[in-house]
Amino acid sequence: MNCRSACLAVLALLAPYAATAQPNDAEPATRAANETVARSLPLADRADFEDAQRGLIAPLPGGVIAGAAGAPPAWNLKLYDFLKGDAAPPTVNPSLWRQAQLNLANGLFKVADRVYQVRGLDIANITIVEGDTGLILTDTTLSVPTAQAALELYYLHRPKKPVVALIYTHSHIDHFGGARGLISDADAASGKVKVIAPSGFMEHAVAENVIAGNAMSRRAQFQFGAPLPVGARGQVDAGLGKALALGAVSLIPPNDTIQQSYETRSIDGVEIEFHLVPGSEAPSEMISYYPQFKVLNMAEDTTHTLHNLYTLRGAAVRDGRLWSKYIGEALDRYGDRTDVVIAQHNWPVWGRDRVAGYLRKQRDVYKFIHDQSVRLMNYGLTPTEIAERLTLPASLANEFAARGYYGSVSHNAKAVYQFYLGWYDANPADLNPLPRVEQARKEIDYMGGADAVLARAREDYKAGQYRWVASVASKLVFADPANKAARALGADALEQLGYQAEASTWRNAYLLGAQELRSGLTATALTTANPDLLKAVSVDLAFDFLAVRLNPAKAEGKRIVVNWTFSDTKETYTMTLENSALSHIAGKLASDADVSVTLSRPTFDAISLKQRSFLGAIATGDLWVTGNPLKLRELFGMFDEFSPNFEVIEPVKAKVE
Ligand SMILES: [Zn+2]
Repeated sequence: MNCRSACLAVLALLAPYAATAQPNDAEPATRAANETVARSLPLADRADFEDAQRGLIAPLPGGVIAGAAGAPPAWNLKLYDFLKGDAAPPTVNPSLWRQAQLNLANGLFKVADRVYQVRGLDIANITIVEGDTGLILTDTTLSVPTAQAALELYYLHRPKKPVVALIYTHSHIDHFGGARGLISDADAASGKVKVIAPSGFMEHAVAENVIAGNAMSRRAQFQFGAPLPVGARGQVDAGLGKALALGAVSLIPPNDTIQQSYETRSIDGVEIEFHLVPGSEAPSEMISYYPQFKVLNMAEDTTHTLHNLYTLRGAAVRDGRLWSKYIGEALDRYGDRTDVVIAQHNWPVWGRDRVAGYLRKQRDVYKFIHDQSVRLMNYGLTPTEIAERLTLPASLANEFAARGYYGSVSHNAKAVYQFYLGWYDANPADLNPLPRVEQARKEIDYMGGADAVLARAREDYKAGQYRWVASVASKLVFADPANKAARALGADALEQLGYQAEASTWRNAYLLGAQELRSGLTATALTTANPDLLKAVSVDLAFDFLAVRLNPAKAEGKRIVVNWTFSDTKETYTMTLENSALSHIAGKLASDADVSVTLSRPTFDAISLKQRSFLGAIATGDLWVTGNPLKLRELFGMFDEFSPNFEVIEPVKAKVE
């Protein structure tokens, strides 16, 4: 027991429970928890604030980047003015408040001679290196308007030299989405502008978002908190930066790819050594070293937060062992000749000793979480037990850049378990439990019914036991989503957890959960359908995406074979529906096909984007069909349309067949 537990018990007695529809203030237990955090961290250390502002040439004029006509601003930092107060309000974890203030730094910064960064105009940065005649850009921010604004800001203060190269550090959209705001498609296609990417870039730029894209987009709302109001009781930060920018997203394919572990390019008088780090923060990623400037760009493998081995929006888990190894290799190869380390999020670290110290701790935080999770796993502990037990050693816990503002030790520990052992904890009682609604109904019934559970849960809420209350209130809601008292109590508990959370991603998830328990679904998840991205999707992947939409009831007992010929790319496929499964094989045309389709890839893409219909394309002669066209219509009548907004904090309402 510590002072905190005793204080909480006393404070709880002073706090009557009353549910509200609006965000509440911090409860005494939350205030106490946040005060404990403030006391335990060296918040007076201003070194990061100095680094975040060092070299500032000019901030983003007005703090706002306009969106398209009629659309909201692509970027609006004025919403975050409330962060300029010194001390954290009781509704925000003081450690997260500090990070949120740091991520408010924005504008054009000089990093070293000939090396600049535009930061704080999106969640991600653009790095600008001045070559002999033009500019070598690294990454693009998420959207075209933010990228344009970044380049305009640079040109306001530096000579207007042309862009000669664009480097993508990795396959995540906040690093390539703004490309068309920086260069033209024509200049990339002709090679006039060199566009350099790590091996596997195009494939991975789209692959992660296609098959599970609908579920991921909805879940991303919880990770980033986009439907939340910005403010001290709402969204305050995203760990790696303030938030995701809005606006059009583009994808301009690279015309040069780094294939070997280490490759060097000389571009416009600037030597760059690339080091591939696949399977770390992204499946396709590279760091880069500039020997002339003694600058090391760690892409997204080191930032000023513990990153995600598992990302809450949902994605394949990442390998902490490999990630750590790459950072160690960079330290070994470049550490003693690096004066400044930069990344594509957050701010740089200057000074050879500080650089080495930072890289060592970044290397070790992933290694520690990986190794210690595996150690505990090999004792037989399961994910929640490992996550509860794992605490960083003081030397890492007191390093702000190793604290969890985006990832967390807790969910990363679970990711390590998942990486090696998957979802099953090996207890056969957990092998085939009832689904969550049936399970919840039984549990609530066994506990004496909803009213009895609510009464006890309210007492626990007053005692500050928010983790438990959120969990048991969720059982009540799954047993009966119309139970308003349970929804209100669950919302209140999630909200206090959000106010206490150090990770922005946890805060956003908790607060959006509270909002949806109170008000239901309020925002529309953004669609990721985009012509540029779709073009980059292979036919193979597009067909697989069709297959995951197949409704088995509609396909029951049907057999349909379709031949596909792509007239422009000369690709052929046989698609077979049987056993309620849709499969395809490349390079083959079946002799017994029910129907054969010939079309170009752009026509296929237009139909996929619903810009054109099959019938319309047949009428204009862009699509030829031989055999029985009714079979094609029958097949395309079997695909589900997913709703971008499905329920998360209560049972799914859509009728799922
Ligand atoms: Zn990123």
